[in-house]
Amino acid sequence: LPVIRAQSNPDYIPDSKFYKVEAILRPWRVQQVSSALLKMGIRGVTVSDVRGFGSQGGSTERHGGSEFSEDKFVAKVKMEIVVSKDQVEAVLDKIIEEARTGEIGDGKIFLVPVSDVIRVRTGERGEEAERMTGGWSDISAP
Ligand code: ATP
Ligand code: GLN
Repeated sequence: LPVIRAQSNPDYIPDSKFYKVEAILRPWRVQQVSSALLKMGIRGVTVSDVRGFGSQGGSTERHGGSEFSEDKFVAKVKMEIVVSKDQVEAVLDKIIEEARTGEIGDGKIFLVPVSDVIRVRTGERGEEAERMTGGWSDISAP
């Protein structure tokens, strides 16, 4: 499978110090994605089981009428990863690299600006709260 990259557009709008990368992926690719992210120094990830439809759900079966029927929803996993702005593109590229099969249903990624991060244990906010001990920043600037 050829390597493809997220088409780089670093001028995110609105501008933010942190972004949430919200990826809706095939459940059986999630382990592969999360171990690759862990290797990069990503330490904070939230995962949920979700159900949805996109081209995959819509194209597999045609039901009469326009009402949504429960059986059109396909099981997916939502991965949410909050990172600093300078880490976004690498995370996007890694998710694409590990999750992509090239077939319909590979999923979609949403990029969401995040106003603040608060660590409950310490009350830290912003950069201090977003940084993870032993994470990407520690690895890249020891
Ligand atoms: P502490 O140092 O107090 O343990 P922490 O920053 O390691 O704080 P946790 O309390 O371990 O945070 O995090 C709780 C949950 O928050 C995690 O299980 C994960 O689901 C989610 N989480 C933490 N950081 C992130 C992040 N950067 N992106 C997405 N989810 C995160
Ligand atoms: N940006 C954090 C760091 O460099 C890592 C964020 C994350 O693991 N989601 O420590």
